[in-house]
Amino acid sequence: MTPQAKQWLSEARRIAVLTGSGISAESGVPTFRGQDGLWRTHRPEDLATPEAFARDPKLVWEWYDWRRSIISKVEPNPGHFALASLEDRSPDFQLVTQNVDGLHERAGSRRVHHLHGSIWRVRCTECGAENNDGRVPMPVIPPRCGCGALVRPGVVWFGEPLPGKAWMEAERAAAACDLLIVAGTSAQVYPAASLVPLAARGGARIIEINLEETPLSGVAGLALRGKAGEILPQLIS
Ligand code: NAD
Ligand code: ZN
Repeated sequence: MTPQAKQWLSEARRIAVLTGSGISAESGVPTFRGQDGLWRTHRPEDLATPEAFARDPKLVWEWYDWRRSIISKVEPNPGHFALASLEDRSPDFQLVTQNVDGLHERAGSRRVHHLHGSIWRVRCTECGAENNDGRVPMPVIPPRCGCGALVRPGVVWFGEPLPGKAWMEAERAAAACDLLIVAGTSAQVYPAASLVPLAARGGARIIEINLEETPLSGVAGLALRGKAGEILPQLIS
């Protein structure tokens, strides 16, 4: 932990945080990019798409059922908890996440802007009926709505637009913050990754926390290499 990172945090009045799957990796949730990313030799990029669901809804649901079963058994880690306590003590704090696992809320974060939906929500592909469904395993795969049509996971797939309200709040937070902390994202998924240059154009300081270099590392004034579950608690202590 560099003293400068702590100083930036203490000087910040408007803090925004962008998280990606790396922050949940230490809880035991596989990331998309990396060694754990494979499931039955399918790549996530080939399953998390509207085309994959149209082609083989059963396969896509089996993958989501597997991911839901993992997430249902894990706990938030010190990285999630550190962000929840940062929210508690910061008058102006916005948390934007690309994660669908719900671990930020389980750690106590209250205002979370979900750019990519939730793995615990489901939505009818015909009538649009949407609700929470935490059943693990899903009793019937693929599940169907009362109207008879297929039900899909309530997440945003590659190539789909982001939920308008969450994206608007995220853009507003990025443009207005004076410090943006970017933790555990490969910064390869757009438009989420564009929040970082947006914050930089607005004059924000940027701290990146990641195991490795990413396309954003050049934009970040400070790039902290290591585990989010170790660095975040040190940063806010
Ligand atoms: P990604 O899988 O593309 O990248 C993960 C990043 O996290 C990598 O850059 C990696 O170096 C870093 N990382 C891994 N472990 C880390 C740790 N302990 N500490 C700090 N950094 C660590 O993830 P992404 O950027 O979030 O984008 C992929 C998409 O996948 C997102 O849209 C997201 O919705 C989805 N996704 C979500 C979950 C989840 O909800 N937990 C899991 C997998 C994928
Ligand atoms: Zn329906």
